[in-house]
Amino acid sequence: MIPEYLISFNTSQLNKEKVDFLIIGGGLSGLYIAWELRNYDTLILYKDGLEETCSYNAQGGIAVALSKEDTPQLHKEDTLKVGCYLNDEKAVDILVNEGIERIKEIIDMGFNFDKENGDFHFTKEGGHSKKRILHSNGDAIGKSITGFFYKLVSNIPNIKILNNSFLIDLISVDDKIVGALILDGNKNEIFLIQAKGYILATGGAGMVFQETTNPSHITGDGIAVAYRKNVELIDLEFYQFHPTTFYIAGAPRFLISESVRGEGGILRNVYGDRFMYDYHPSGELAPRDIVSRAIIDQMKKTNSNCVYLDLTHLKKEFIKKRFPQIYNFCKTYGIEPSKNLIPVRPAAHYFMGGIKTDLWGRTNFSNLFACGECAWTGIHGANRLASNSLLECLVFGKRIGIKIKEENFKIYDVDVKYVFPKKADIWIDKEDLKRSIRSLMWRNVGIERDEEGLKYALSKLKEWQKYAFCKEFYDKSGFESLNMLIVASLITESALIRKETRGTHFRKDYPEIDDKNWKKHIIISKKGVEIK
Ligand SMILES: Cc1cc2nc3c(=O)[nH]c(=O)nc-3n(C[C@H](O)[C@H](O)[C@H](O)COP(=O)(O)OP(=O)(O)OC[C@H]3O[C@@H](n4cnc5c(N)ncnc54)[C@H](O)[C@@H]3O)c2cc1C
Repeated sequence: MIPEYLISFNTSQLNKEKVDFLIIGGGLSGLYIAWELRNYDTLILYKDGLEETCSYNAQGGIAVALSKEDTPQLHKEDTLKVGCYLNDEKAVDILVNEGIERIKEIIDMGFNFDKENGDFHFTKEGGHSKKRILHSNGDAIGKSITGFFYKLVSNIPNIKILNNSFLIDLISVDDKIVGALILDGNKNEIFLIQAKGYILATGGAGMVFQETTNPSHITGDGIAVAYRKNVELIDLEFYQFHPTTFYIAGAPRFLISESVRGEGGILRNVYGDRFMYDYHPSGELAPRDIVSRAIIDQMKKTNSNCVYLDLTHLKKEFIKKRFPQIYNFCKTYGIEPSKNLIPVRPAAHYFMGGIKTDLWGRTNFSNLFACGECAWTGIHGANRLASNSLLECLVFGKRIGIKIKEENFKIYDVDVKYVFPKKADIWIDKEDLKRSIRSLMWRNVGIERDEEGLKYALSKLKEWQKYAFCKEFYDKSGFESLNMLIVASLITESALIRKETRGTHFRKDYPEIDDKNWKKHIIISKKGVEIK
């Protein structure tokens, strides 16, 4: 029912542009790979611009075992424990060891992490046994590190950056990707890019859930494009919900970073009671899935729509210096964190599953790579250890750069015509479709799941697919709504298959971890489902 491409096209009639490498997405993974490929003609696409990436909005920092009391082995153990041992150990070894090299490299390149008394200042976040999070400009690692690489790549003549351009689909012939269909939002024109290699760096899919920390452009496009091309996707049932996002009606779900709890923030329910030690011995610094579920439980028990983060025992000057973005954001909405409690509740945050890659970022197409949040490298397992994702962008971005330079890719001639099947002249309110997907997913495929809710969600999504995929859209919002429909369906299908609770995937009807039957991955592609 899902077509191979979202639009009809004839490549012989499209304007064409040739580059060595096309990087779709300019968050940290896209920018870093571009830097690695700086000796080639490289094009980076942004759906909108830098500020709309998750990378730019990252707050807490980057996890790296660089402090005197830490070791890569401890970092590895924490990553595996939080991931409920569904991680690929080889990938985790690469992350924790090569991560140290990458961080040292960027420090040598001139990137500044925050220091205290001349030494790097490490902070702690949930699930970490040691203080190992390096941060920058207080709570602005995202702005700092993307700004750093954006500036570097902008000054390289071979690297071109195109804002406001949308990847609609990748065109394949046999086992090669031969072109990319792009909507140029500035001219409202569809054109073709031919490259030797293609890198999907399109981020996660937070927008398929009603409550999310992700910018509004993060709609899972790269994952949906990959699915249409029969690329294997894996572990899609694992979506991390961040426990503490700012919650007052009408305000954005602004993230209140975990490092706020790392620096002493206390969670209280509506009656002012501290509750996290009733759920986990690590209290506020328990893994994110446990904190999120505890908050939901407290909201239910106290019949309220949020809980509160209490920083009132911390000094105003400390909060302002350590968390300038968070402090200023709360102030905008009349909350002074050193005096007032901050209302918070969970929201969809990070996609552990994604496009299946090997340890060099390769997919099952020889010239198609995936990196960052849209990719599955195996490092996160069933739950991501806080602040491991920016490190992943650097570590696996570097590996993709190395692999691409070793290969002898070439540009292929392309002569493909495609006619979109079953055109229908029905009117579809795209924004309503998106809203409906998001609320359905939040209610039935969110923090707590069960068979009944998942089956209901899947049946609705399939029903909506029946007519939505008869409609040939020609605009970004239309393409996004169809991509969201695909990704939401695949997450739900995977969540229905996994009959156990593991990491972020909490099944009320199967509340225990089941290593005997389920220490396995669910791989989904157009060919079907494989469990192994
Ligand atoms: C609020 C927030 C705070 C976070 N804090 C931290 C933290 O402190 N530490 C940490 O390690 N991680 C953190 N994370 C997670 C981390 O930021 C992300 O996992 C990581 O930045 C993902 O990088 P990326 O390059 O894969 O994707 P992104 O940075 O999300 O970039 C995706 C890019 O793809 C482009 N794109 C998408 N679809 C298309 C399309 N169809 N056509 C063209 N372009 C497209 C977008 O425009 C964008 O440029 C945080 C996330 C959020 C949302």
